[in-house]
Amino acid sequence: MAPGIERCMYCGDSLGAAIDHFEPIKLAPLRAFDWLNHFLACDYCNSNAKRAEYPCDPSTGECLLIDPSTEDPHDHLRLILRTGRYRPRTPKGEATISTFHLYRPQLEQARRDAFERCGDMLRGYARLLRSGEHQRAHGRAEALLRQPHADVLYAMVRTLDSPGVSMVLDEDIIEILGNRFAVPGIWRKADDPASASR
Ligand SMILES: [Zn+2]
Repeated sequence: MAPGIERCMYCGDSLGAAIDHFEPIKLAPLRAFDWLNHFLACDYCNSNAKRAEYPCDPSTGECLLIDPSTEDPHDHLRLILRTGRYRPRTPKGEATISTFHLYRPQLEQARRDAFERCGDMLRGYARLLRSGEHQRAHGRAEALLRQPHADVLYAMVRTLDSPGVSMVLDEDIIEILGNRFAVPGIWRKADDPASASR
């Protein structure tokens, strides 16, 4: 639920120094102690962006924010890796971008930087593997998973399934990510060959 190390579960950029009640206590007092209603959030997302907002569809009453404890953000948002910009796939994606200000220029820059960094780290990982330094390679993969903006790496992985992948990712990165054991821990269970064989 909180990719990277204790990062904000909404922007993925800053330290999750606050706890946000996803469904505000005012609207749902009975969820005050519901574990899955408590998300790590940074000060900006908690106090400046979301605050007590909880937009709902007027006809169905369904919450229009992506719930990171139950939903895959990728189903509602598309990350354009070259620009670092999120585009909505659904009304839920649109409301999430707008409520959390995911269009902040600092976030878009940080995602572009993370995209470059992920490429370098994946290449370093592959080099270490080739030279038989498995322990260091494993350490590199773990460092990759700990960094902020884990959503960028996740979007790179999900791009592998899209027809335009070669327009977005370099050939060598496609090959490294194509090896499904390359970055343990980021595969959805169904896609993870390690869990499938258990
Ligand atoms: Zn945040």
